[in-house]
Amino acid sequence: MTAAKPVTALRGVGSALAERLRELGVLTVPDLLFLLPLRYEDRTRTVPLGELRAGLRAAVEGEVQLTEVVFRGRRQLLCRIADGSGFLTLRFFHFNAQQQQALARGARLRCFGEAGRTAGGFEFVHPEYRRVDERAAAHAQEHLTPVYPATEGITQGRLRQLMSMALEQLDAAELTDWLPAAVLADERLPALAEALRIVHRPPADTPLESLVDRRHPAQRRLAFEELLAHHLSLRLLRRRVQSDPGWPLCVSADVKHRLLAALPFRLTRAQARALAQIEADLRLPKPMLRLVQGDVGCGKTLVAALAATAALAAGRQAALMAPTELLADQHAENFRRWFEPLGFEVALLAGRQPAKMRAALRLAIKRGAKPLVIGTQALFQEGVEFASLALVIVDEQHRFGVHQRLALREKGAAGGRRPHQLIMTATPIPRTLAMTAYADLDVSVIDELPPGRTPVRTVVLADSRRAEVVQRIRTACLEGRQAYWVCPLIDESDDMPYQAAEETAAALAAALPELAVGLVHGRMPAAAKELTMRRFKDGEIKLLVATTVIEVGVDVPNATLMVIENAERMGLAQLHQLRGRGGRGLHASSCVLLFRPPLSALARERLAVLRATNDGFVVARRDLELRGPGELLGTRQTGLAQMRVADLLRDADMLPRVHVAAEEILAHWPDRVEPLVRRWIGGAEQYGRVG
Ligand code: ADP
Ligand code: MG
Repeated sequence: MTAAKPVTALRGVGSALAERLRELGVLTVPDLLFLLPLRYEDRTRTVPLGELRAGLRAAVEGEVQLTEVVFRGRRQLLCRIADGSGFLTLRFFHFNAQQQQALARGARLRCFGEAGRTAGGFEFVHPEYRRVDERAAAHAQEHLTPVYPATEGITQGRLRQLMSMALEQLDAAELTDWLPAAVLADERLPALAEALRIVHRPPADTPLESLVDRRHPAQRRLAFEELLAHHLSLRLLRRRVQSDPGWPLCVSADVKHRLLAALPFRLTRAQARALAQIEADLRLPKPMLRLVQGDVGCGKTLVAALAATAALAAGRQAALMAPTELLADQHAENFRRWFEPLGFEVALLAGRQPAKMRAALRLAIKRGAKPLVIGTQALFQEGVEFASLALVIVDEQHRFGVHQRLALREKGAAGGRRPHQLIMTATPIPRTLAMTAYADLDVSVIDELPPGRTPVRTVVLADSRRAEVVQRIRTACLEGRQAYWVCPLIDESDDMPYQAAEETAAALAAALPELAVGLVHGRMPAAAKELTMRRFKDGEIKLLVATTVIEVGVDVPNATLMVIENAERMGLAQLHQLRGRGGRGLHASSCVLLFRPPLSALARERLAVLRATNDGFVVARRDLELRGPGELLGTRQTGLAQMRVADLLRDADMLPRVHVAAEEILAHWPDRVEPLVRRWIGGAEQYGRVG
């Protein structure tokens, strides 16, 4: 392969522009072609001015009738064009004398913009425009117009020009198609050069919808390659991590059995199976990389604790990272109950501890005096050093992205050895998705809940029936139970939801004067939040009003009723996890999903899924089929949000073939792996060194 040409090989690209492009990760001509359009505009058709509608993005042509500078609040240039069917005002707030002259009466303009309605008809504010008499007719748009991600200092026009030049060079055979021909044939996907040509210059007859939905074969081809690159990059990472030695740990039957003997229950079969898989990994001299996936309440914590016994019995350390302080507290409480009778000290690192105390703890951890350390990820990132960390447990990993997970991996490495990693998640993502999002991990599934759980009964109600729901809370609490009322956060940056939660809490306290009502939300100081949660846990507060902070929350078996407002706006998995807070005690639990009518057919169907099943995997599968807001499987949690064309949800059908292709490439063309990863994940530093 010849070295790819630098972007400066393109006509008119000097060092300044090259620097801008470098900021986008574009160094070479082929790199440029992988800067893909965000969307497309149809400028192949000229819309008569008389047919403009508000909000329509359209290409128009007309003759300038009048251009004037006016002061209306601020200085602006107004230019009126007409085409016989109607007229249109072009409004510019930023302009120069040259522009003003170019818009002289009688000039013919071709403009593209979004029509806005004003008292005097339609207008385009700062449209793209050019004089049509200036350019050759051959330049009329024969293609749909790509719109690229906005970039500082490079206009869309310039980018399009650069792409055209790069496309002309495509035949220079610099761009190797790494996908095996057999894969392309099986998937009926176009070759790379053809796919790039189509996405950058879609022929006028390309159905705009297929491009917008990114279902055009050209886009599917690129998505396939991108998914493949992500999968391979995780596989490479795994290989790299496992090339370092770990700590082979023999499972100590003694410590483990003493822990088990002290429990008032027995492991479920699924827990035992997951534990056996973990123990088999721990015995090996290479670091374990394992994900334990299991529905809320299936008992992942205990499995993690049993895994930790192997490290402790060998005289090594284990660390548990929780996503919130509250959860770290809860884990510390459980672990103390389990481990202290066995003679192992449990250290909790908490943000509320005085800095001096934390420093002393860190020192003790470094000396190896603390075998078990629990804290939040933030606290571990502060630079905790271990004497001999043999196992890292990450709880509720769906809260963290891939990058955080990978960063952690670097953290644990010390003394040339890497700790085993056990990652726990309640996100019940279907298998094919898991294989992509967690391609670097082995997966154990706990698909069974402990016996004696009462399934949560779910009802869906219009919020006009609030009064009945309030009555239900009263009844439950007077019977000695407790309840949650969840006001979901629609937009985290918005203060409104917190106000809404406060107002809801006040209204409920007024309606239920006989009950102690508490409130927690994300904007409260951690200490206040914790105090309220504790009082709820202790049964002092009967009704807890919360934003979704309780999603990854505490175990309160006495809380048997959960009301979730605006349920129609939440992801199904999130709803499922929330209701999983219930159903932990002896008493029958229920979950009321309140919605604000009217409910769309899709929203109705989504909520019906929750009413019909308590199985997280079924919920996830149905959500995938119904293509909800993607909140759950969403790319957000898996860290694959940065993908350029692919979408785990939309392109899920391709995943099995992506995995097969990955195997084929790893087996037969290992030298293609690196260039593929580099092409798509470019900024490899994000993923740690690859290879
Ligand atoms: P999650 O998987 O959601 O993290 P937890 O580990 O918090 O679930 O477990 C939920 C509850 O179930 C805890 O109170 C735990 O003690 C209990 N539990 C765990 N395993 C069993 C079991 N085999 N039988 C009965 N209860 C169990
Ligand atoms: Mg848990």
